[in-house]
Amino acid sequence: MSGGGQRPLLQRIPVATKEVPVTPEQEKQLQHIETELAIASKKLRLVQLRKEIAKTELDTQAVMLRLTQFIETADRENIHMRNQRIINFVTGAIELADYERQHLHECTVCQTMCDTVMRVV
Ligand SMILES: [Zn+2]
Repeated sequence: MSGGGQRPLLQRIPVATKEVPVTPEQEKQLQHIETELAIASKKLRLVQLRKEIAKTELDTQAVMLRLTQFIETADRENIHMRNQRIINFVTGAIELADYERQHLHECTVCQTMCDTVMRVV
């Protein structure tokens, strides 16, 4: 090696002055890569859509759960016992749930229904 020492690495790399010709084989490979990129992009979109759907399903389940809890609470607090429950209870076919027992203690409408059913059966 002679004079001036070594130049930095980047300056030693030859710069291409004209476009490197692409062979038909390379052209085909490039097209293949572009096709694969397009497919990968579509797959990514599909995964994103699946994620959105899963999230929506979770939201729906949460709403359904809240609705079910709301209806159960309303059942316990505001709605009289179903006649079929009272008949089954009076005939000894079922035992009442705690909240039904509680309701029966406090509700004259359901007590009257119980009395009526007892007289009939
Ligand atoms: Zn009642």
